[in-house]
This record gives sequence, structure tokens and C-alpha cells, in this order.
Amino acid sequence: MTGLELREVVKHYASGDGEIVRAVDGVSLAIKPGELVALYGPSGSGKTTLLLLAAGLMAPDAGSILFDGRQIGNLSSRESTLYRRHKVGLIFQSFHLTPGASAVENAGLKLQADGWTMAEACDAARPWLERVGLIERADYLVDRLSMGECQRVAIARALVNGPRLVLADEPTGNLDSKRSRETLGLLAELCHEHELAVLLVTHDPQATGFVDRVYTLRDGQLSDGLDVDLAAVVNT
Ligand code: ADP
Ligand code: MG
Repeated sequence: MTGLELREVVKHYASGDGEIVRAVDGVSLAIKPGELVALYGPSGSGKTTLLLLAAGLMAPDAGSILFDGRQIGNLSSRESTLYRRHKVGLIFQSFHLTPGASAVENAGLKLQADGWTMAEACDAARPWLERVGLIERADYLVDRLSMGECQRVAIARALVNGPRLVLADEPTGNLDSKRSRETLGLLAELCHEHELAVLLVTHDPQATGFVDRVYTLRDGQLSDGLDVDLAAVVNT
């Protein structure tokens, strides 16, 4: 199938005291192109580990991870880098923008990694800044932008080279509720416009209104629906 598919994925860590931490414990999940899926779960339930696995940043101990039918759990480090660079857009709670560079330079970063000149990358990134509503700030240093604006730059940066899978780890965690709604709405629109498979890790109760499906991860195990006390969850 196209999109992301996890089959009985297991990832354990050895903790400091010799205990095994079952971070991801038999998770099966499929996200097709054009689907936006929210993943809730208490702190430490394995959400970030699941995103790292889907990004090919670590290999599962058991089970398989496929993207467009291709195994990504056991790629060489070069193949894994190319998978992330060309197929995956990553969005983080704390944006991870490059300070001292403009919004448009940040948005074009992945293109430069692929050998484009700065001018070419900026030309290609401008329409994305337009799309996320930031064209009038394109040449501002990101240091001067608000949190909501920074997340929009980060979304433009994630999408600039046409990835097929977007992995977002608590992208509204640093935003107020109005900016969170705007960001969630933008992600949903972009997901449908560009037929992206989107996995959104979130603690934001508003997200349920923007997504196609909701899951909860608890002790590394997935269940359908929202099954966590969001008021009690600390952002991680
Ligand atoms: P979440 O993102 O839901 O907070 P994580 O995926 O970060 O959860 O962590 C899941 C569990 O795995 C936690 O118990 C955490 O302490 C543990 N863990 C995460 N990364 C490591 C690591 N590199 N080494 C050992 N334990 C880890
Ligand atoms: Mg996390």
C-alpha cells in the first residue's frame, strides 16, 4: 500500500538499572496519503520513539515499517538520510530553525542540502512562505518572528521539497490556543491539498477537530480513540 505502514513494531530500550523499557510494544498502524492521524498519550508512552522509527532514525527490534511498500527499518545510513530528505518532513515543538538566517533561507534549507544554491532555494521557498501566510516576513530573520510565525516557517521548511510523509512532534506545544488552532488548520489543509500522510503527536484537545483518526499510545501500546487525561499530561 502507499503511505506509512507499521506492522507489529517493537522497540525496547535498556534503562540505566538494567530494566527493559518497552517504549513501543507491538504497534500496527497505517496512514494513507491525504490522511491526518493524531496520536495522543501520556509522557513516556513511546510517542517520540514511534516518530523516530517512522523517520528511519532508528531500527525496530521486531516488526516492519514500510513507506510506499518499501521497508525503511533496515536502510543503510545513506539510504535512510535520503529517505528523510526526500520523503519525510519533520516538524518539532521547538521549531529547530537556524537563528541568524531569514525565514525564506530557513524554509529553503533542505534544497540547499541537495545542492541548490541559496538563491535557487530561496526562490523555491517563497511560494511556500506565501502558502503559510508569511510572505511579508520572508526576509525577516527568524529571531524576530513570533512563535506562531516560527512554526509556520518550520512547516514551509518541512514541505518545501515535496515530502510524502509529515511527522510532527507536538507542533502546537509552544503556541497559545488561537495559534494552535491556526497551525492545526494549516496542517490539515496542506495534508489534503498535497495528499500527505501526516502523523501528528499532540496533547492538544483541539486537534481532534482537525484530524481523520485519533489513537492513544499507552506503555507502547496503541488503542483507537482519545483515552488520556489531557489536563494531566505534561508536554515532552
Ligand atoms: P513520549 O514521547 O511519549 O514521552 P518516548 O518515546 O520519548 O515517549 O519514551 C518512551 C519510553 O522510553 C520512556 O520510558 C523513556 O524514558 C524511554 N526512552 C526513550 N528514549 C530512550 C533511550 N534513548 N534510552 C533509554 N530509554 C529511553
Ligand atoms: Mg515525546
